[in-house]
Amino acid sequence: MSSVTGHTALVTGAASGIGLACARALSSAGAEVHLVDRDPHVLTFAEELGGIGHVLDLTGSVESLPAEIDVLVNNAGVQHVAPIHEFPADRFSAMLELMLGAAFRLTRHVLPHMYDRGWGRLVHVTSVHGLRASAFKSAYVSAKHGLEGFSKVAALEGAPHGVTSNCVAPGYVRTPLVEKQITDQARVHDIPEADVAEKIFLQRSAVKRLIEPEEVAQAVLWLCDNSFVTGTSLAVDGGWTAQ
Ligand code: NAD
Repeated sequence: MSSVTGHTALVTGAASGIGLACARALSSAGAEVHLVDRDPHVLTFAEELGGIGHVLDLTGSVESLPAEIDVLVNNAGVQHVAPIHEFPADRFSAMLELMLGAAFRLTRHVLPHMYDRGWGRLVHVTSVHGLRASAFKSAYVSAKHGLEGFSKVAALEGAPHGVTSNCVAPGYVRTPLVEKQITDQARVHDIPEADVAEKIFLQRSAVKRLIEPEEVAQAVLWLCDNSFVTGTSLAVDGGWTAQ
């Protein structure tokens, strides 16, 4: 039995990749799961899991989402690869709004319920780019470093109320977010698309393979099971940050 059994969870970005894997893992562990995404396919996945789907663009208000949530997984994210001097300013703001602003607004939305219950789990899917930088990812690296900081503040404030806050920081995971980067990475680094996996994705990983979304979901569940682990970041990065 997992400590999420019988609890209510909400996962953002749950129509694809890591978010969907988290929703499936939480559901298998016995949680009731709310799946949130701007992609309407989320409704089909929610039905499959016997959960509740919400189609919502998280750059806007989150007030329509339920506040009675015990486990919040802030996961929705996007990538844009471009040098700073060419990076569209509105794109930079929108990425911060999604990956940092929405995490703040959702945490703020659910914390009163967690504090009332004296138990809660906040897990933020950041990235190795929350701990390290790469060229051409200014918005992503800024948002993820910000989310790592926000998580630590939530850990300090939540501790007296039985609420933990942690990050999972993966290296490159086999999801559409990575597949969509191949063309842009080839362009900005001036290399053939066929070389992107070896020269960009796996170059700094000691373990030379992409991570599977299910491996990230297991790390999320492990954090939910631990009441003394808080304010930390669990790197699931094949040794990237060991260097
Ligand atoms: P993905 O593209 O497979 O899924 C992201 C989901 O977020 C999609 O379903 C998308 O519709 C949703 N989404 C995007 N913008 C949204 C918005 N404005 N409102 C609501 N939903 C929105 O990506 P993924 O690889 O599963 O990434 C999930 C998280 O993991 C992201 O935060 C990403 O930064 C992080 N991450 C991914 C990798 C990787 O290599 N794939 C590595 C480290 C961290």
